Order: sequence, then structure tokens, then C-alpha cells
Amino acid sequence: MIRQNVDNYLLRFRRLFQQFCVDMYAKIEAERLLFITLNQTKLRMEQYIHLRHAISTEGNASDFGRLTILPATFVGSPLHMHEYTQDAMTYVRHYGRPDLFIAFTCNPKWIKIVQLLLPGQQSSDRHDITARVFRQKIRSLMHYIVRHRVFGDTRCWMYSIEWQKRGLPHVHILIWLVERIQPDQIDDIIFAEIPDPETDPDLHDVVITNMIHGPCGAINPQSPCMVDGKCSKRYPQNLTADTITGKDGYPLYRRRSSDDGDRTITVKVKGNDFVVDNSWVVPYSPLLSKTFRAHCNVEYCNSVKSIKYICKYVTKGSDMAAFGLQAPDPNDEITRYQIGRYVCCNEAIWRIFSFPIHERYPSVTHWAVHLENGQRVYFTPANTAQRAQNPPTTTLSSFFSICQSDPFARALIYSEMPLGMLHRRNFNVESKVM
Ligand SMILES: [Zn+2]
Repeated sequence: MIRQNVDNYLLRFRRLFQQFCVDMYAKIEAERLLFITLNQTKLRMEQYIHLRHAISTEGNASDFGRLTILPATFVGSPLHMHEYTQDAMTYVRHYGRPDLFIAFTCNPKWIKIVQLLLPGQQSSDRHDITARVFRQKIRSLMHYIVRHRVFGDTRCWMYSIEWQKRGLPHVHILIWLVERIQPDQIDDIIFAEIPDPETDPDLHDVVITNMIHGPCGAINPQSPCMVDGKCSKRYPQNLTADTITGKDGYPLYRRRSSDDGDRTITVKVKGNDFVVDNSWVVPYSPLLSKTFRAHCNVEYCNSVKSIKYICKYVTKGSDMAAFGLQAPDPNDEITRYQIGRYVCCNEAIWRIFSFPIHERYPSVTHWAVHLENGQRVYFTPANTAQRAQNPPTTTLSSFFSICQSDPFARALIYSEMPLGMLHRRNFNVESKVM
């Protein structure tokens, strides 16, 4: 912690401080995993319901007794990630495609960060500061979007935080709006052109420092976006006089060519001058870019295809550098998770501070799906008889028993049940009041 009038020497140790944070977080995570390993029988009875069954195809019944489970309650585990993907699909099922996809990256040059650095420090020496400031920035960005309704009323949202290898965090946000964005409104919200330095020098400055891709391609083949000699993000993009919404994926935003009198800037790439035109601009929202002064890519989601890509993107799990001398036991989920787990300093600090890596609104509840008597019953030698007599009820078995006695419930399908019953209760309360 930074405390007034106290010199915390740890904060002066630069790389050693980074190493210390990563080591400490590795210890914390190892402790948590050890707890899970030592409490498998309890976890199997109480926590582990059905999801593993749904996603695992390699299960072999005879190995089942040796199964070591990493439950979905462990943040960042494959099951946890899988649940988030399912939640995103629930939103899609209820509300259709999201309207906006926003990728927002921590900017180490933010004044809030630079002001707190000690003399001679770089922001990379102080991931404690970058993590705290970025957390605050995400909160204020979400506040801006949801409470201040910069894009209109928000129906639901979710976000997920990721770290580049060795690097700073970025967040991917999906926004569903009550009033959907119509294709003819895209040009009012999303821009992909260099702004006019005369009328808005501030925005021009933010865009040319944060929102120019690469440049990559033949002039800079070492750029990290280059895969097999091509830019994986498909820059430079085509210049078009008008925004075109295609059948799938993102639309082609309006990028007027310099022949039409639009602006270009000259940047230095490896000591050579390179003229950047609108084809290199990453789509942005002028309002968000000016407010947050960071890399903030805003995209219009146009079809169901882009959702699939985005949900995967939002929940692809932590980076892994796997190197093994011996294949891990396929039934040991904990070892499989730990092997090649890659934690950078910023993520370590983020997790030590207990900052969330996902948030969403509204919440989603997971309900059991199984065959008759097919719910998983876990037992120890001590409670076998009792378990066999009274198998645990699940949301599904309770649904069936309510349907036996309640004609109203019978009219609902399983997933409509909570809202349907809630509406009925509210209706009853209202009619009593009248
Ligand atoms: Zn590129």
C-alpha cells in the first residue's frame, strides 16, 4: 500500500518488486488449489453438479474415482470460463445480438498513474498503481455507459479482463441496448477517420497517439499482428466513402480516401517516413476516446456470427505457455490447470487485490439438466445408505414436483419458471391490494 509519510521500500524495487508480487500470487493460488485438492469429497457432494459432464468428452467411467475436480467457483478455471460463455449465450437468447463491442486498454501514460510514480520510476515498475487506476477507469467507463447512457439505455452488459503477455490489462465489453443501434446511426457513434486538427485538436491528438494500427505489413514485418506475412487484424482496411454493413462480421466503416481531400499524417516507422491515411485508423467513439484518452476500440455488432466470435473472445481463458516432460493425468483438473499457467505481474497484483476479472449484469442462474435419477449423487462410505434413500433434489426435480400440483407451473417451460412464478406472485400481491 502507499501510505502517507511512510516509505514502503518494497515499492522501490522495480523488477524485484514485480518478481515478489508474482511469487506471492503463485503462493496464494497454490494454497487455494491445495485446499481444493484436500477437500475433494466435500466439493464433489456440494459443488459439482453437471457441467463437467456437459463439456468433457474424455471421461472414462473406470477412472472416475480418481477424478480431481477444479470447480467453477475457482476464478479463471476452465469450468468458470465455460459458465461465462453460457451466460453470454443466455443474454443472446433473450435479447439477441449485442449492439456494441468495446476493447479498452490501460494507458501507462495516464496522468493519474504518472503522478504517483516515485522519482525515476517507469509505470512498468509500479503495477500496483496501473492495476488500481485501470480498475477505477473501468468502473467509470461502465458508469458512463450505463448510468449516463452515452449510447442510450443499457439492457445488459458483460466484460472480461485480459492481460497481454508480460503486459498491461485490457477489457472487452459487450453492451446490449434497449433501443438498438440502426445501421444509419453507426456514423454518429463510431468513427474510423483521422479527426480535423483545426476543429478538434484534442481528439486529433488522442486518435493519432492511441488509435492508429501498426503500421504493419511490408514496412514493418516484425509487428506483433503479422501472421504468415499478413496482418491478422486485416489492416490497412479498405477505404470507402460510406459505411457498409456486410452480411456477417463487423461493418466496413466510412473511411474516406485522401484523394477526396481527407487527412493523412506522417509517422516514423523504423526511421522511415510513412504516410498513414484513414485505412489505418482503429474504429473509435470520439466521446469515449476524448474522455478516457486511451486505446478504446468501439465496434458495431451486426450479425449472430460476430457474437459467437466475441463470446469466445471474451472468455478464452488465461494465456498458457505449456511445456511438459510428462503428460499430465487427464483426470487431474488441478494439475492440468497449473501446468504452464502464466501469470504476469499486473495480473498477480490484480488478483491479490481481489479485483474481479469478469462482471456482468443482470445475473444468470444455472439450472440442472439431467435424466431421471441421473443427478450426480456423491457419497462417502459413512453416508451411503442415507444418500441412497434421499437423493438430493435439483432444480429440475423440483420443477417436476411443482408441476404435479400446480397447473400454472405446468404452463411454463423450465427456463421460464423463475420469471413466470415471480410475475404470478406480483400479480397476486397487486390483486390483494386492490
Ligand atoms: Zn497489423
